[in-house]
Order: sequence, then C-alpha cells, then structure tokens
Amino acid sequence: MRRKLIAGNWKMNGSMAALVELDAIATAATRSPGVDVAVAVPATLIAPATARAPTLAIGAQDVHHGDCGAHTGCVSAAMVREVGARFSLVGHSERRADQAESDAHVRDKATAARRAGLDVILCVGETSEERDAGRAEAVVTAQLAASLPDDAAGPWLSVAYEPIWAIGTGRTPTTADVAAMHGALRARLRDLLGVEAEAIRLLYGGSVNDANAGELLGAGDVDGALVGGASLTAAKFVPIIEAAARLG
Ligand code: PEP
Repeated sequence: MRRKLIAGNWKMNGSMAALVELDAIATAATRSPGVDVAVAVPATLIAPATARAPTLAIGAQDVHHGDCGAHTGCVSAAMVREVGARFSLVGHSERRADQAESDAHVRDKATAARRAGLDVILCVGETSEERDAGRAEAVVTAQLAASLPDDAAGPWLSVAYEPIWAIGTGRTPTTADVAAMHGALRARLRDLLGVEAEAIRLLYGGSVNDANAGELLGAGDVDGALVGGASLTAAKFVPIIEAAARLG
C-alpha cells in the first residue's frame, strides 16, 4: 500500500516573508496523517523553511551530480541535506530545457541525491508535439528507463509524470490518459526492477489545483501530485492535501 505524497514546487518563487505560508501547510499535514506532504523551496530557503516548519519535509529543486569540487554556483546534495533538505526533485522539465539536462545527467543527479541520504522525486514528461504524434508513452517510459538512479527502489524514490504542455498552463490530460501513462510507467518499472517497483510512488504533475485534485488523485496508479503554482499559498495548497486525505 503506497501512501499518497503531495509535493509542492516553489520554483524560483518565495522569500523569507513567504515562509509564513508553511505554517498552515504544516498544520494541514499534521491533520492528514495518512498523507505525506513535502515542499521543494529555492536553495536559499531550505534552512529557514526547515526551522520554521520542522515537521514538514522540506526539499531542494535540484542538486549537482558531484559531491564537491570546482563547480561555481552549484550546490551538492550533501550541502542541501546538511541544512535540512529531506529530498530533492531531479530532472524537472524546466531544468531539462533551460539547463539542457540529459537523461544521463538526471540519472547521475538522482544517484548523487540518494548517496547523500535524500529522497528523490524524478520528473519525466512529454511535449505536446510528442503526444499529438502518439509517442507520449514511448517517450516517457524511455526517459524513465534512462534517468532511473542506481539501485532505484521505493519508498525513497518517486516518479512524477509531468506532461510539459500541462505545466503552468491550466490544461490537464484526461484522467484516462493519466491512468494509462501511470500504468505504462508502473509496467516499465516492473520490467526494470521487479518487486522493487511496487513501492515507488507515481505522482501526477501539471496544473493540479483544488478543483481537479480529487479526480486526478483518484485516477489509476496515481500515488500523489507534484504541484507548482498552487503550492505557493496555503489557501491553494491545503485543499489539495485535503483531497488526498479524503482518498486515503
Ligand atoms: C511543476 O512545475 O512541477 C508543476 C506541476 O507546475 P504547475 O502545477 O504550476 O503546473
């Protein structure tokens, strides 16, 4: 039985003042003991967010694939862990596009994150052109296979299916399309990992909000959500946590 995970991604948003939002998010998490709640904040906010909301799983949005060295401007997994991060996203489509991160690079980052003791949320997803061409499942399952970290296993590893065309656009796939993709991801994980596949959570991400969360979270093989815009305020994020709690 996989527990639902609702993870927020603040991207390059937030400030010390914005951390007040974590108070109500942490309260909602405490009131929903059957749901895991996490928030990936900018690296500068990891320590203060952890201090402000010690019961909440605070995480990073990216880590370097190396442990230390001459990499100006980069931050290692051990560094974010030392200041309180419990997990990191890797392979978000915005990083794959903006920083030209390949599957091999994402795999190395995920492996580094795990080596440092972090949980990992590995993101995969297709473009609208790939979906329109009928290639979505082939593209996404190939991305998964090439990005999986060494010794991949649950529950420390989650995979977030995030169709790129659904991120920040207000558009979402049908629940049938989400269920079909999650089924394909689960099948590929079973092929690659055998029984270890069963404990890996599959999250859906892309324009999740309070109105659609119940339906998306109820789709087949959906074990949670990765939430961008709607995680920035407690007013929008807490109803998503509550929707997950209602599903058990
Ligand atoms: C994301 O960027 O991970 C995301 C899902 O964003 P949004 O919820 O804003 O579509």
